[in-house]
Parts: sequence; C-alpha cells; structure tokens
Amino acid sequence: MSELQSSSIAERIAACDLCGLAKGRNKTVPGDGAADADIMFIGEGPGFYEDQRGLPFVGRAGNLLNEMLASIGLRRADVFVTNMVKCRPPNNRDPFPAEIAACAPYLDEQIEMVRPKVIVALGRYSFSKFFPDEAISKARGKPRDWRGIVVYPMYHPAAALRNGNLRVRLEDDFKRLPELIREVENGGRAARQQDAAAPPQPAAKQIGLF
Ligand code: URA
Repeated sequence: MSELQSSSIAERIAACDLCGLAKGRNKTVPGDGAADADIMFIGEGPGFYEDQRGLPFVGRAGNLLNEMLASIGLRRADVFVTNMVKCRPPNNRDPFPAEIAACAPYLDEQIEMVRPKVIVALGRYSFSKFFPDEAISKARGKPRDWRGIVVYPMYHPAAALRNGNLRVRLEDDFKRLPELIREVENGGRAARQQDAAAPPQPAAKQIGLF
C-alpha cells in the first residue's frame, strides 16, 4: 500500500490538490465528530470561519446547527459533521460539479468509515449526491434509503438563517430525527427499503415513517 493510501483521510485531504480549491484555501476542513456516530451531517463546503479554523460549521450556520442539535439533546461530539467539498470555494460561491467530483472519494470513504445509521443531507448540494435532480423543497423531511443507509434531507442552516419559513421547517425536521434514529435502531422499515441507487428499480421510496 502506498504512503498516500495508508495515511488518514484527514492527512490526505490536507495534502490534496485534485481541484482548484486547493490554491485558495487557508486550511482544509475534512470533518469533525465521533468516528462511530449514528448520525452524519453533510453540508456544502467550508466558509470563511471554517477555512480559518479547519473545522466544519463553526460560523453562523454552525451556531444554528448546534442550536438545533441541542434542541434534541445532542452535542456536536455525538455526531459526525462534514461537507461535500473540503476546501472553501472563493467568496463562498457554490462548489462546481468538478470540485464536488474531485472531493467525492473522501466523502465516500468517510461514509464507509463512520457507517452512520442516518445521513442528514443539509441543502441541495448534499442531497443531490444521493438523489440527483430532485428538489430539496419537495424531499426535505422525508427519510429515504440509500445503499442501506437512511438519508434524511433538510434545508441548509444558512438558508434557514436567510428565510424564517425555512427555519421553521428545519426545526420541524430536526424534531423528527430522534424518532427516526429509534426506528432505524429497531430495524424498522428504513433498513428494509430498496436501494435507491440500484437500477432498474424506480426512484427511492419515501420511508413511511412521517
Ligand atoms: N456551510 C457549509 O455547508 N458547511 C460548513 O462547514 C459551513 C457552512
């Protein structure tokens, strides 16, 4: 095994220059939290503060995420938090498809390593990794199976900070998270749903929990 393959994911991300975002970054932001977490949150990409500190969701959106977690009795240390891209896009622009594609193997490895029971996809970029071409506005709050893991789409906290209506929906979706975890732990429907990505099955069914 090459040195690159054997080093930790975070070390490889720190040395990564697979896309143009490497040039402008201050720090890489691999992800943070419990390596055996039941819940993994996936956002879009680091912003200014994340790039300064090398940690995900430590700015205003992160404060809201922490608040939502606290509302259901969880701390950041209880979950794993990461992003679609591990380096800050300039001026916080949306990540380009090529940047997301270049970074995807790191995220795939993180999902494989943590093997969470539930992935919370925060916002449309994260959601589109699992279910491309679907609108987050329709999909949010509806848990779905993706390769044996429950994906639970929610609005991005940054969007909720800009729009009070979205914030109410984000709060509602968070409130349902503990029940969803219990359902998955009890081997409920979530574990038995078809794999959304497996052809030739039709698009994933919504889990009938909510
Ligand atoms: N927004 C994201 O999507 N990720 C972060 O880490 C911070 C803000």
